[in-house]
Amino acid sequence: MPSLDTHCHLDDPRFVPDLGAVLERAAIAGVKDIVAPASEERRWPALYALAGRGGWPRVHPAFGVHPWFLREDDNPHSLTERLSCVLDAAGHRAVAVGEVGLDFWPGMPEHGVQERLLRAQLELAQARDLPVILHARRSEDRLAKCLRDYPGLRGVVHGFTGSEQQAERFVGLGLLLGVGGVVTRQSADRLRRVFAAVPVDRVLIESDAPDQAPSAHAGQRNEPAFMGETLAVLAKDRAMDALALAALLDDNARRLFRIDGGAP
Ligand SMILES: [Zn+2]
Repeated sequence: MPSLDTHCHLDDPRFVPDLGAVLERAAIAGVKDIVAPASEERRWPALYALAGRGGWPRVHPAFGVHPWFLREDDNPHSLTERLSCVLDAAGHRAVAVGEVGLDFWPGMPEHGVQERLLRAQLELAQARDLPVILHARRSEDRLAKCLRDYPGLRGVVHGFTGSEQQAERFVGLGLLLGVGGVVTRQSADRLRRVFAAVPVDRVLIESDAPDQAPSAHAGQRNEPAFMGETLAVLAKDRAMDALALAALLDDNARRLFRIDGGAP
């Protein structure tokens, strides 16, 4: 089992009724650290509170506004100020800027607005030397083009489902690619081939809970304790021992987010 879940929406309302039990199952499964990216700005305070809860697994928040929740009348300067404020308050606890990105699915905020507000958040990440947690749906090429303007920016394209060429492009830009339960589905042959070809030091494993449950839990609310199934598929495709792969993926995550191994 990986000791770090690199992407879990612990502030999601679906976790409210039994968050303690979810975290306990994660700890029993061997998860020591969870990176919890923000989605909606109005839930930043809840996320901030979670990071201070103490105990295991430790919760490491990232702050940003997910493309689904961007307001078309927002302005980049004001967004930067609000985000700066919460990052200042969180101090060293904030491990990244995220979840930010581009989502070109129909019905999402206008593309130009998304890109302007994304760029404001990328600039702040760069200025603060924080990695970024990126979301891309039907927007991988535009995102890669945008990222070229931020050399040296570290980060991960989480829940990556793009092509091999797009994967190569992101890796070429110095980014990592996150993979979750989607890779365990029967229809995931193409994605499995894409990930098997990504250099192992550029892969992060994530639950993306409460969504994207691996196939053994299809249709259920996902949680970090289910990541073992994803790990097993990735290990099989690389003909690697799962524990050995987990150790490498842990190193990748700890390096990117600067999270130490903590106590046993
Ligand atoms: Zn997410």
